[in-house]
Amino acid sequence: MRVYRDKTREINIPKDVNLTELLHTSAVPLPPSHLIATDSLTNRSLTIGELRTRAGRIAYGLNKTYQPQEGDRWAVILPNCVEYIELFHALLWVGGVGCPINHALKPNEIAHALGVSKPKYVFAYSESISNILEGIRIAKVELAHSGIVWSDPTVITVISRHLSYAHAPDDFLSTHILPIPHYTDTTTRLASIHLSSGTTGAPKGVELTHHNFVANVYQLYAHDPAQFHSASRTVAFTPFIHIAMTTMPLFFGPWTGALHHAMPAPFNLDTFGKLVSSVRPTSYQGVPSIALQIANSDLTDKYDFSQAEVINCGGASMTPELVARLCSKAPWQIMQVYGMTEGAPYVAYQRKGQSLPPGGIGCFLPNIEAMLKVSGTSDDAPEGGPGELWIRGANITKRYCGVSAEANAKAFPEEGGERWYNTGDVCTIDKAGIVSVVGRTKELIKYKGFQVSPTELEAHLNSHPHVTEAGVGAVWDETQLTELPTAYVVLKPEVPEGHVKRALKDIHQHMDNLVSGYKKLRGGIWSVSKLPKNPTGKIVRAELRDHLTGGCSLH
Ligand code: AMP
Repeated sequence: MRVYRDKTREINIPKDVNLTELLHTSAVPLPPSHLIATDSLTNRSLTIGELRTRAGRIAYGLNKTYQPQEGDRWAVILPNCVEYIELFHALLWVGGVGCPINHALKPNEIAHALGVSKPKYVFAYSESISNILEGIRIAKVELAHSGIVWSDPTVITVISRHLSYAHAPDDFLSTHILPIPHYTDTTTRLASIHLSSGTTGAPKGVELTHHNFVANVYQLYAHDPAQFHSASRTVAFTPFIHIAMTTMPLFFGPWTGALHHAMPAPFNLDTFGKLVSSVRPTSYQGVPSIALQIANSDLTDKYDFSQAEVINCGGASMTPELVARLCSKAPWQIMQVYGMTEGAPYVAYQRKGQSLPPGGIGCFLPNIEAMLKVSGTSDDAPEGGPGELWIRGANITKRYCGVSAEANAKAFPEEGGERWYNTGDVCTIDKAGIVSVVGRTKELIKYKGFQVSPTELEAHLNSHPHVTEAGVGAVWDETQLTELPTAYVVLKPEVPEGHVKRALKDIHQHMDNLVSGYKKLRGGIWSVSKLPKNPTGKIVRAELRDHLTGGCSLH
């Protein structure tokens, strides 16, 4: 087995530090008045001193009100805001496990997410409360069908857009601060369960430990201290449910002193531009489709971007043309980022001032080990690849929750007596250690940085009375630099030739009722006479498009 690891950049990552302890230390000395978070939803701000005190006082209040047990799960169904940050820290402080769920999901999707983590407590956004309560109702019924008893969670409604709190963190604010916990089991003690569909199947729970996050904070900082400093400011427009927005504003920001301004989703160019004028960010974190929107707009003429040092772009590949176009707009450097939910999330990152060959995404963070494998096997790919990327490191999860032992063994294959994570990404690694993502073997679709699980969409399509069988794949949209979820359906024989269009329209409506915005079938629904299958009967998604047999599409 051939392992890629840069031994010259190894660092020490403490195993006896949990996330509450991390909150009370920092990479450089920070005065308590140092601002680390602001937001446009409630206009609140938090200094590092306030975050430490408020999280500890809220933790005390939560403890007193609910007497939670260590390991209890707390769903966090909130938009990007300062409350998100302090509540997450408070739940970690009481020994809880945070389970972020997108507040903009439809009730059945919330139900699925709740069914994965089965939380005991729910921090619920007041504006989404009816969907959340309906999600809880559906989850209970669905779990009961599978013979799983899940007691009604305690719902704590948080935040109203009008700045009056329905039931707010302040309700738990005590004058006392809960003692800071110390654990000796940070490598196994869960801090969060994020959703990811991994290489296959429906979204599942990624178990991330305190140590996974602490490690990623240390790795990222050691990787590029020049980029992440206490004078960094960023507008955080990616929804906080994304793993990068757990690690960055909750842990990395308070540790390095970098300020995060929480901008509620969905991303809007004008809102963003106005925030740039007031926050004066030095960096941005986004996906190529948002970078493209910025490149195609007059934003940099209208607003002052002179403070901007870097745009970090991850989640999908950037084209050299887009990088060049962005660079002509403002004096920033475009930085490539590669990671995943399972990596908490950062795995490879371009360093400030580092130039990359086209397609390169930077070097691995310190202490990450990697192998390139012939797809679907455990044989080494030819040196340098391309090959399926397997990784290992202190930041990488060890397992998904609620899946079978076989499914976990497949996602985390063993080799050399160690468990690896098979990313399902096809990569190359050059002699200088620069990684490039050149393809993907996993079935995941990414729409503008959001994960879309084909399995989940297929299940909904298959529940429609006109559908015999459906397959979902991705179509690349060059104009938006994103994949578009696209469906291929075999209609029931009863649907007459002349009614195909109407049937497809019906299916579209059915899907729009069931899935939230980013999962919509923007690549269309295509009628096909059969689906391509491999000898074991599995749909070959890469070939779905080849099997159009004069069907029709509806966008
Ligand atoms: P997520 O768990 O939602 O962050 O998705 C992780 C997946 O996004 C990775 O496994 C890759 O397939 C893809 N991805 C992340 N960063 C990049 C990148 N810089 N270039 C290409 N694909 C990426």
